[in-house]
Amino acid sequence: MCDVMNVEEMFGSKVFTLGKMKERLPKSVYKEVKKIIDQGGELSPATADVVAKAMKDWAVENGATHYTHWFQPLTGITAEKHDAFVTHPDEEGKMLLEFSGKELIKGEPDASSFPSGGLRATFEARGYTAWDITSPAFLKEDATGVILCIPTAFCSYKGEALDKKTPLLRSMEAISEQALRIVRLFGNTEATKVVPSVGPEQEYFLVDREKYLKRDDLIFAGRTLFGAPAPKGQELEDHYFGTIRERIGAYMKDLNIELWKLGVTAKTQHNEVAPAQHELAPIYETANIAVDHNQLVMETMKKVAGRHGLTCLLHEKPFAGVNGSGKHNNWSLGTDNGVNLLDPGDTPNENIQFLLVLACIMKAVDTHADLLRQSASDVGNDHRLGANEAPPAIISIFLGEQLEDVVKQLVETGEAAHLIEGGKLETGVSTLPDFEKDATDRNRTSPFAFTGNKFEFRMVGSADSIGSPNTILNAIVAEAFCEAADRLEKADNFDMAVHDLIKEYMTKHQRIVFNGDGYSDAWVKEAERRGLPNIKSMVEASSSLTTEKSIALFEKFGIFTKVELESREEILYETYAKTINIEALTMIEMAKKQILPAVMKYTKSLADTVIAVKEAGADASVQIGVLNEISANLAQAKAALTTLEEKVEKASTIQNAKELAFFFKDEVFTAMEALRAPVDTLETMVDRKVWPLPTYAELIFEV
Ligand code: ADP
Ligand code: MG
Repeated sequence: MCDVMNVEEMFGSKVFTLGKMKERLPKSVYKEVKKIIDQGGELSPATADVVAKAMKDWAVENGATHYTHWFQPLTGITAEKHDAFVTHPDEEGKMLLEFSGKELIKGEPDASSFPSGGLRATFEARGYTAWDITSPAFLKEDATGVILCIPTAFCSYKGEALDKKTPLLRSMEAISEQALRIVRLFGNTEATKVVPSVGPEQEYFLVDREKYLKRDDLIFAGRTLFGAPAPKGQELEDHYFGTIRERIGAYMKDLNIELWKLGVTAKTQHNEVAPAQHELAPIYETANIAVDHNQLVMETMKKVAGRHGLTCLLHEKPFAGVNGSGKHNNWSLGTDNGVNLLDPGDTPNENIQFLLVLACIMKAVDTHADLLRQSASDVGNDHRLGANEAPPAIISIFLGEQLEDVVKQLVETGEAAHLIEGGKLETGVSTLPDFEKDATDRNRTSPFAFTGNKFEFRMVGSADSIGSPNTILNAIVAEAFCEAADRLEKADNFDMAVHDLIKEYMTKHQRIVFNGDGYSDAWVKEAERRGLPNIKSMVEASSSLTTEKSIALFEKFGIFTKVELESREEILYETYAKTINIEALTMIEMAKKQILPAVMKYTKSLADTVIAVKEAGADASVQIGVLNEISANLAQAKAALTTLEEKVEKASTIQNAKELAFFFKDEVFTAMEALRAPVDTLETMVDRKVWPLPTYAELIFEV
């Protein structure tokens, strides 16, 4: 018998929603909260006390014993420190659970161990967390009990951002202000803000937990550092959208339930291209909530996997030779009176506004391609971007055939007088077509694709926070809007000025538009000819944060200070070096203590066989051949292992973070690949029974 699920009742049951606040707060207090959520501002201490009490009562009724300021330090994941609601007992030993407004609004975790890139000298180690009132509090339930989680921003005492949320919120303010200037120019006087919406499609792998626990590389690095390909890969294309197996289905069902309770609109689920790879997408929502929710999705994916004897791998490239995982970041801009700025619209006025917005986005992406590339880089994503699989490391925009043609006409003649596929179009007179239909000719190889009424940024890594990509998107587009508004607000003849500006921007930045195959070598050459940057790795991308151009952009809109940017660049180098160091040490450990001993033992048994066969007077040439071949690979592996050990040793003598990161990329990583090659060959040669690790076949096909 199948239990009937009441999804409507379940949805948001663990969230302190506006609805619950409305029920539980005095009207005036609710109004104040709502106003701050909509328009910004700060809660008064008295109001904060009332909200805190209501929140605590609700949490306790639902079993909560603790609260935490839930924040997103620069580790890319979330952090929490639990405090019980318990207070000092009275004389009679009775204790009342309490939670004050002050505790709700501000926390002071001892944060000296989070990455700060030197921003927080140890004498002022205590950064503070502040409630992001626009993101609702929620209850997290695990073995520790029920915890009230308050989404917070995390700053140093001087107010420098130490997290992913603070700059995102700043960027949302910037784009709202600048986008409002644009819609005002087109006569929209009702809108009071413009909000970026985000829908992230999350890819992930599931493997059997028992097998996972037998591999140090999966445990320490989240990816396989050795592993010969299975006889079958993804070539039959039988996994993508395939029937979901029972065990995985049970996992997905549980995952959905958990997410719905947390107010996450888990919507789409399917098998992905690689065996054992899957995807979940929620419905899009306000950028900062989408960022919080994506963190919850990732955490919940991992948590629920344990219950099913599975482990969820969020790494961008857990297995060589099959597709890795990414996160498509769908992004659009909407006014609070219901206009999507990325929707071509139905009237000539809307069309022109759309073309202006498009021209600004082309300008933004072309001008700051390096920043956008940087925002999608993390250590794992180096295996995808610009490596053997897409999207490429080169930023370009896909517009679709029709829209690209409109841009071309505007550039060539200043008019878009006709439409591909019949239809007549005169900008300013008639209307642009329904591009949603055009978006059906999807180009999966483009890193930044227009898909009807949104852009889909496809470079983002599966394990990474989507905080940075959205901060950068908001920032660069805010800048382009600002420059456009500066000019258009002063124009005597608006129609003429907007026409000229669209033409100018599109002409100047047309090079960023590319509709062809992004995976091809021809595109790499063509992009080079166009002068587009091709930044191949995370460490090479990091310095784009601190170019003069970037600093000017971020300081102008109050999103990052120069010091904050420098500290972030520093953290990226540190993170890279530390991560590769862990991978290298794991490889050394596995090679030395598991793989080489197993192979040596096997060569001994082969040698014994050779002797026995010879003694019996038979021909032992086959056995000798195999033994020789294995021994040769063993020797190569041993030499590569020694080199890797030397490189890791050398790394420990390098002080400068940037130099160290480059050393890990150019020297250590290369030495790791040199060790992997002979080991993977050995795996294909020795008896299956003696190989000490679960194989690719066992990991990705036997789930
Ligand atoms: P797919 O790309 O797999 O075909 P869709 O493009 O329909 O799927 O949707 C992917 C994601 O984009 C979903 O999270 C969806 O909610 C989100 N999305 C849809 N419309 C918008 C929009 N206007 N702004 C931002 N995200 C959107
Ligand atoms: Mg999509």
